[in-house]
Amino acid sequence: MNKLHLDRVRLQNPYAHAEQIHREEVRQPLRRRPRPLSTSDRAVAAAVAQVHRQLWHRRREFWGDQVPADAVKLLNVGHALKLHGYQLSYVADVGQHAGRGNDLEVAGVIDRDRREVRISPTLPEAVQRFTAGHELAHAVLHPHAGGIHRDRPIEGSARSSDPQERAADRFSAFFLVPEKLLAARFLAVFHTEVFELNDLTRMALGPAAEPFQGKRVPRWILARTLAGLGRYNGEVFPPLATQFGVSISTMAIRLEELGFVAG
Ligand SMILES: [Zn+2]
Repeated sequence: MNKLHLDRVRLQNPYAHAEQIHREEVRQPLRRRPRPLSTSDRAVAAAVAQVHRQLWHRRREFWGDQVPADAVKLLNVGHALKLHGYQLSYVADVGQHAGRGNDLEVAGVIDRDRREVRISPTLPEAVQRFTAGHELAHAVLHPHAGGIHRDRPIEGSARSSDPQERAADRFSAFFLVPEKLLAARFLAVFHTEVFELNDLTRMALGPAAEPFQGKRVPRWILARTLAGLGRYNGEVFPPLATQFGVSISTMAIRLEELGFVAG
């Protein structure tokens, strides 16, 4: 069968081509295609999956009969640290980078001798959360390192040149924004598996689409827009970044690498 005939069969409409029906209407919905993980990221993802499983299996130890229905609430860094023998505390003075002056603020510390992670409560919550996830990564991925390790504020967008630090950042992003949970939330707010900018979605974006008029929009800009968007197609909801308690940058990176944005 030639293509013309196939389209007519599919549309149950012998005049499909005569009516010049838009391509969008006959095209299959886009499927999400996550970017393949590097070898080191695969190892990190496996470690995160194990921690998620532990949190799920032992949820009653932490929550009793008050286990939250919202699975995002189970992604609790303090609980995960406890499973690895660490206490999480929020203390105003987590210390400075020794001998480097006062300009380097410390956001998080993992103290292996005292089995303690300390997070500065003065930073934005998304930074506290991402930094705590990074310290959890050190506890899980680098259990044999010793002494005190300090980290500057991390919100997930910078790419560290140190492999261990980079792995800890990836761990935190994977831990805080798991793929399956994000897929469910994404579908709930955008009603599609993959977001593609077209006439319909521009209309649903409303004022958020104004900067895009007549331009080809880079995927990362679209990802940032979706990450922080609180209104779509007339519905109001907490932005995805807020739902997962991460920065817009972290959410945008996850949306892009997990294939939620076409372009
Ligand atoms: Zn670190």
